[in-house]
Amino acid sequence: METNHTDAKARDEARSLNFIEQIIERDIAAGKNGGRVHTRFPPEPNGYLHIGHAKSICLNFGLAKKYGGKCNLRFDDTNPTKEDVEYVDSIMEDVRWLGFDWEDRLFYASDFFEQIYQFSEKLILDGKAYIDEQTLEQIRAGRGTLTEAGSNSPYRDRPIDESLSLFRRMRSGEFPDGKMVLRAKIDMASPNMNLRDPLLYRIRHASHHRTGDKWCIYPMYDWMHGQNDSLEGITHSICTLEFENHRPLYDWCIEQLGIHHPQQIEFARLNLTYTVMSKRKLLELVEAKHVSGWDDPRMPTICGLRRRGYTPESLRAFCERIGVAKFNSLVEMEWLEQAIREDLNKRAPRVMGVLNPLKVVIDNYPEGQVEQLEAINNPEDASYGTRQVPFSRELYIEQSDFMEDPPKKFFRLGPGREVRLRYAYFVKCVDVVKDAAGNVIELRCTYDPATRGGNAPDGRKVQGTIHWVSAPQAVDAEVRLYDRLLSIPDAGAIPEGEDWKKYLNPNSLQVLAGCKLEPSLATAAPMAKFQFERNGYFCLDKDSTENQLVFNRTVTLKDSWAKVQSKGD
Ligand code: ATP
Ligand code: MG
Repeated sequence: METNHTDAKARDEARSLNFIEQIIERDIAAGKNGGRVHTRFPPEPNGYLHIGHAKSICLNFGLAKKYGGKCNLRFDDTNPTKEDVEYVDSIMEDVRWLGFDWEDRLFYASDFFEQIYQFSEKLILDGKAYIDEQTLEQIRAGRGTLTEAGSNSPYRDRPIDESLSLFRRMRSGEFPDGKMVLRAKIDMASPNMNLRDPLLYRIRHASHHRTGDKWCIYPMYDWMHGQNDSLEGITHSICTLEFENHRPLYDWCIEQLGIHHPQQIEFARLNLTYTVMSKRKLLELVEAKHVSGWDDPRMPTICGLRRRGYTPESLRAFCERIGVAKFNSLVEMEWLEQAIREDLNKRAPRVMGVLNPLKVVIDNYPEGQVEQLEAINNPEDASYGTRQVPFSRELYIEQSDFMEDPPKKFFRLGPGREVRLRYAYFVKCVDVVKDAAGNVIELRCTYDPATRGGNAPDGRKVQGTIHWVSAPQAVDAEVRLYDRLLSIPDAGAIPEGEDWKKYLNPNSLQVLAGCKLEPSLATAAPMAKFQFERNGYFCLDKDSTENQLVFNRTVTLKDSWAKVQSKGD
């Protein structure tokens, strides 16, 4: 036995299966559940999904796909007061966008309310549940502590008939909220607090977004979840670590009812540096208008990341790469950024855009002349071909590409210096125009017509290559640059009771107006993604109008890139 087990373990490691895959493969080999694999993603529709949910989605749908199984989408809508159809719709959109399909298996916990009610009557009839008329405070006090056993409720041993009749009257709306609850009868001395006669049902005279006013009693999460799993035929019920000590209750409920028994498996939730990952906190940001909405590109929500320019492929690759573990940890935001960089590096067309324009006039270029120069769309993929960019006497370059008094290592433009304009010509700065305050407002340059395309026939070299945009044809744009949402890496380190919003980064958004982009961008499609050479990856925002494009910077290029470029590629 022991040898077999070790062999299996060694084999798993060789194939680098994660621990959940190992469990599933053993279950399949043992013929458990007839070899079926059936998972589910069970969001509560009380907010928009975030990148942590993406991890759970990729895991659940991914396992189903890998093992030829199925994955359900189930809305865990047992709490009538916090839930909303807006959230339901956004969740479906996000799961689809991530690339997953629940086919005809869309479920709502609320569709099972009647069934759960019937299960509850069965528990009462079996002497496994009772109506408790204590107040919530009394119930809480009676539960004991981690070191002390709880005490039995005075209602615990009331006759079954009495509990049954009260439960029916609860359902029919005879009692106000909080008057009584249904509790499981398990063990008030259990070392596991979750087994100390947990609440199963409470009275809530509240309309539900799907069942309306049909119900005024609602099941507790713990009493609903496992039964839902079972009724849907789930084989592996994957959840996050905080439910580990709910598992005995999960198992207890199913055993009392004698129904199909899925296996609950817990994994560590994703935490990312410099952000928060709880719907409650994200809702706080939205409501207090610290961000423009759930889809603000600074949010770790799926819709925020989408608007920022993240692709489904990059999020899936990220989730795959971070893997699943049994212990909580903090993943560095850089991993997420690297995933989108790698994806966009392969796929985003290159364009030129100037974020902080400085005007350049080429003195020896004929006035009114415009020529088209050929530019490469994607050096990573020749199939992207080339495009034409206009060149003329008046251009914009980046303010930071000029220094009046440059230090030794600065290889870009300065008085008397020559650089290459990408895909165009060598230009030399011959004069600097300033305003009354002494700010540089324009450069006068000359160009060398013999260097068309960016190479000198005499073999002369320049040390810097900079990007530019022809002024008359330039497209105006607003560009939004983003920084970390939080000023500290670990939101979990903020002491309980302290206002975590104190740690919001006040510089998380920088808006640049008056950016100048090459004209090919005028026809960019909504959500289109580009690399603005040397400036990063950008995505067209929905705030764009006919008169002004708006771009979000998804992510910068590799930090070392700018340095490499300025030495002349
Ligand atoms: P939050 O704490 O952000 O409000 P939640 O757990 O309450 O999230 P649910 O809607 O209940 O949100 O979650 C749906 C599924 O997504 C659950 O199975 C949950 O375990 C999983 N999930 C939620 N947050 C994370 C996370 N950070 N990492 C991995 N999985 C997560
Ligand atoms: Mg939850």
